[in-house]
This record gives sequence, structure tokens and C-alpha cells, in this order.
Amino acid sequence: MKIDIEQKAARKLASDINSMLSKHTRPVKFMEVCGTHTMAIHSSGIKSLFTRKLLLVSGPGCPVCVTEKLFIDQAIFLGREYGACLVTFGDLIRVPGSEGSLADLRSKGGLVKVVYSPMDAVKIAIDMEPKPVIFLGVGFETTIPTVAATLKAARSRNIRNLFVLPAFKTIHRPLKILASQEELTGFLLPGHVSAIIGSNSYDYLARDYHKPGVVTGFDALDILLAIRSLVDMAINNEARIENNYKTVVKTNGNAFAMALIDEVFEPAKASWRGLGTIPESGLALKAPYDIFDAYRQFEIQVAPTADDARCKCARILTGELTPNQCGLFGTECMPETPVGPCMVSSEGTCAAYYKYGGSFFES
Ligand code: SF4
Repeated sequence: MKIDIEQKAARKLASDINSMLSKHTRPVKFMEVCGTHTMAIHSSGIKSLFTRKLLLVSGPGCPVCVTEKLFIDQAIFLGREYGACLVTFGDLIRVPGSEGSLADLRSKGGLVKVVYSPMDAVKIAIDMEPKPVIFLGVGFETTIPTVAATLKAARSRNIRNLFVLPAFKTIHRPLKILASQEELTGFLLPGHVSAIIGSNSYDYLARDYHKPGVVTGFDALDILLAIRSLVDMAINNEARIENNYKTVVKTNGNAFAMALIDEVFEPAKASWRGLGTIPESGLALKAPYDIFDAYRQFEIQVAPTADDARCKCARILTGELTPNQCGLFGTECMPETPVGPCMVSSEGTCAAYYKYGGSFFES
């Protein structure tokens, strides 16, 4: 009964949205910034409810997808040359590097452990002392406070064999680049990241770029309500940041988590798949926590290699293409045989399209 009511409500909302857009002269293109939204949108089938006048594209919010191949190669180098135990979240393990993945390294006897929390790395480091244990630091503002707390715990316990290979990302700088794209109408803003940084932190999108944004949760109805708000603002030529996820996201975010980040990290340039190197879009460890920085403690001799030119991940992460515009999608590239990270990650756009299908109107 509940599902039936929700389906009816979803169809009514989609019908309202389509009706609003039918009177609007131009199509609208919204970007869902967060990988969890990408999966929610595809698993719920929302895209199939819209006409050609509404296009939803994915953004750079899947942390595994935006991490460059060089990082995987550097991690493998550390495992191979220094005998380090590499500690990572699950998705990263199957991302192809230049000469295989972390899973391949493990199958050849390398030490690679999958954890659910960075704090698990502390216990692993204690158990394996003096072997170097290196946590692969991939993630956005949602993950970073827990890494900061982990390093504080490691420092207070004087653990000297734990390190972090940092490839952390922060969301505002790439959003500014994307907001300057004329064809992008507005943003579905992330739920989890916004819980840390706060809904007010996106004000520049409306103020400086005249792009509306709505922070929303992950149910189909939440997403549809957010899209209706975005369409309403678009057809009235308005730009505001709305917070539709107030139970989780506060105006100013989570002060405790932000203070943790500030205590351990400082802004640094970061290299993004699809967007290149962006100043102050990442985080580096600052003193006294820089003793945990694997880049500082190990000499890592790995030259960058070119990505497989046939993989369109980079252009998918910036909303320029959709996966069914990649010639490898569903043929050479599938979840069991991924060519790029967008097919590996549980938040990847190609994985979402493969699992749930894309929109009829995009091909
Ligand atoms: S389908 Fe595979 S090869 Fe194509 S863009 Fe996605 S991950 Fe890359």
C-alpha cells in the first residue's frame, strides 16, 4: 500500500514538472553532484518519468571516480616497493591502474585490506608494527573528519607506522567551475557532504553564477520535490539555494566536524579526473600531522601515464556525456571487466546505468 501511494505521488510530481516545462521555451539540464543521488535516481527509475525537456547529468561527487589513475599507481608502488600494507575502502580496490588494480596486487601476494572506517587502520597498524600501514585517503568532506579523528587517535597513541596517502577532495572549487557552464541550469546538491559543510556554503552558486541549487535527501519523492523546485526557479529565472533536507543538513553544517578538518588539514591543490588540477580543491596534512603524510615519508617514483582514450569517464563526471555515449559501455566495459572507475564504484554513473538502465531520451 505504501509503495503504491509513493508511486502515485511520484507520478503526480513528475507530471507537474513536465507540465511546468511544457510552457518553458528551453530545456533544462540539472546536475546531481553526489554519487549517492546518481544511484538513487537510477534505482528509482525517476529519469523515465521526464520528457526530453529535462536532462539529469552526473557530476564529480563520486570520490573513487574523480581519483586519478596516478594515485592507484602510487599506492601499488608503495605496496610493492616498500612492502606496505594498503588500507582502503572497498570500491577503490578494483579501479584499474596502469598495470593492474589493487586487487591484482593482492592476488600476487601484496597486502591490501578493505575497511569500513579509517579508524580500523589504527588497529591494523598496531597489529602489524613495524610494517608501514598506509590508508588510501580518498573521499569528500563526509569522510575527511573521520580520517582527521583517526590521525588524532594515532598521534595520541604515538603510532609511527601509520600513514595516509592523501587524495582528498572538497566540493566547492569544482562546483564553481561547473557553475560557469552556460548549459547547466542548476544543481541537486549533496545530502551527506552538506551535512558537514552546511547549506549556506553554496550561496555563491546563486549570487555569483545565478544557478539555483537544492540540497535534498535520497528518496525518490525527495529528489522529485527538489527537481520541481529547480524547475520552478529555472522557469521564473530565479536562483536560490534551498535546503529540503533540514533533518540532516543544518544551515552552517557540523561545526565539530569542520573544526576537526581544520585542525589536521589545510587547503591544497588537487588533481581531478575530468577537471584537471584545481587550486585549493583538496587537503594536505598540516603540522604536526604531516608526519603521517605518505608523500612526505616515502619516495614515490611513479610517472603519470595516459588514460585509455576510449574511456569517457572524465567527460561523464562533468556532465558533458552520459555512459551510453561511450563506445565501450556494456560491451568491453562492464562491472566484471571495468575499463574506468565510473563502472567500478557503487556510486559510479556507468555502474548505475549498467545496473538500472539510462533514460530513453539520452541516446
Ligand atoms: S563505460 Fe567504462 S569505458 Fe566507458 S566511460 Fe564508463 S567506465 Fe569508462
